[in-house]
Amino acid sequence: MEEFIKLHHKYKDANPVENEGNSEFHYYKLLIINNIECRNYIKKQEILESGFAINECCTAMDYQIFLYNKKNKKNIINKWSESMYGIAFRGRNNELVEIHHCPWCGVKLH
Ligand SMILES: [Zn+2]
Repeated sequence: MEEFIKLHHKYKDANPVENEGNSEFHYYKLLIINNIECRNYIKKQEILESGFAINECCTAMDYQIFLYNKKNKKNIINKWSESMYGIAFRGRNNELVEIHHCPWCGVKLH
């Protein structure tokens, strides 16, 4: 993981076209594709850098709530209150369906 973190800081804003022949850059991209820990590291960094404080059951859920609150139009899952999590169906009268378990890790939500 230490190796990935070093590569991430080196290449996170790198231009893929400029790095087309750079095997280290391709190795970095492959680590992201093949390793969920690397993807979770990137998501956690993005959340931390935004100053958003969330600590749900798993990084996948943290990231969904983070994206929703960033007004990402594709995101439909959010935490609506301390005890209510749900899926919003935008465009269908903003209908909300409550969920009781995390869709990613299966943990029972509060
Ligand atoms: Zn979860």
